[in-house]
Amino acid sequence: MKNNETDTLLEFDTRHIWHPYTSAVNPLPCFMVESANGVYLNLSGGRRIIDGMSSWWAAIHGYNHPYLNEAIRKQQEKMSHVMFGGLTHEPAIKLAQKLVDMTPADIQHVFFCDSGSVAVEVSMKMAIQYFHALGKPGKCRFATVRSGYHGDTWHAMSVCDPITGMHSIFENCLPKQFFADMPAIPFGETWDEEDIRSAENIIVEHHNEIAAFIIEPIVQGAGGMRFYHPEYLKRLRQLCTQYDILLIADEIATGFGRSGTMFACERTSISPDIMCVGKALTGGYMTLAATLTTVHVAETISSASPYVFMHGPTFMGNPLACAVAYASLELVTDNHILAKIGEIETQLKTELQAAREISSVVDVRVLGAIGVIEVKENVDLKKIQPLFVENGVWIRPFGKLIYTMPPYIITKDELGTLIKGMIKTISNFGL
Ligand SMILES: *Cc1c(COP(=O)(O)O)cnc(C)c1O
Repeated sequence: MKNNETDTLLEFDTRHIWHPYTSAVNPLPCFMVESANGVYLNLSGGRRIIDGMSSWWAAIHGYNHPYLNEAIRKQQEKMSHVMFGGLTHEPAIKLAQKLVDMTPADIQHVFFCDSGSVAVEVSMKMAIQYFHALGKPGKCRFATVRSGYHGDTWHAMSVCDPITGMHSIFENCLPKQFFADMPAIPFGETWDEEDIRSAENIIVEHHNEIAAFIIEPIVQGAGGMRFYHPEYLKRLRQLCTQYDILLIADEIATGFGRSGTMFACERTSISPDIMCVGKALTGGYMTLAATLTTVHVAETISSASPYVFMHGPTFMGNPLACAVAYASLELVTDNHILAKIGEIETQLKTELQAAREISSVVDVRVLGAIGVIEVKENVDLKKIQPLFVENGVWIRPFGKLIYTMPPYIITKDELGTLIKGMIKTISNFGL
């Protein structure tokens, strides 16, 4: 694309298009991507940068992947979409089989959703319908932990951290949920039973009102990029069972290997009642998510009036999305992906250490293919974003967090370059 052509398009973008969490009158400038290949984003003007974000956890196999391209192309020649009410198709069935195979044994029913936030809404509706069917309509509120993130739609917002969850201006309009203290003991440190106390107190006191406890297993993503002790999850599972509360595991960020196990729940072998997946599900090709549940929850919902689960999006089970998701999961299960993620973890652990020498850095932490550098002060995105690009990497910090979750296909050299680009930018930035 010619430079003046790019400028004209970018000018229209600035004036007319809303990007995530941006101003309509004074937006930060965007970079134009012309194409993407492997771990590289090709910007207009010819610059090539390494994507350290996997387009927000999604592009796990990198861009323009021949196998995924082929899956979409083949499906498109058959049909791009048909309604899912009364009709079904092979891509949805094969994907559902794969998901049922990969997830804990109790998880047997699949509901396809349009996005992660919708998957969370659906999970909450399932929990409410479950207790409605059991004749306990009073159990219709939710509990969660602080520092969480579950999406941008209405009830998903209500369980995001009230402060870091980006939705504080809606606070007075949102349904009021129960917030336990965030899990404080980091992954890898010594467990202390006090850590579960706040959640336990809420559960003991309010279990008659609570339908479900929703939590991101092990990794708190957009709410703080924190890794917590697996024992927390194990104790939470026990408490939920004991007090008749459903456990919703939001694996939208962690699913499909990101945190070092296929699902983060596996760190302590718990099985949730409801599980949400999204983000990496299609390998970053298009939007698709799913809410999965157990035979018990599904059968209970269907055993009492209205005898059906009350949700059904227009584009449910889109065949293109299902076909590419199935192909992506084939790559995940056939390619020793966990070994590769282990290598990424080792390299991140070793090479990110250099960031500790920078005076503004307060913490460096790594789990699976996630690397986080936490600094003292909030980062000025407008200033730092172009520096990352100049240093050849795509990193999108928020608040005090500068982090990477690279595509799994990244080579050792590429990851080395990515880490150096991150560290160089942070130290030059003089944070
Ligand atoms: C991203 C995310 C969501 C929301 O997914 P969208 O596809 O952005 O709607 C929900 N939960 C978690 C844990 C996430 O990381």
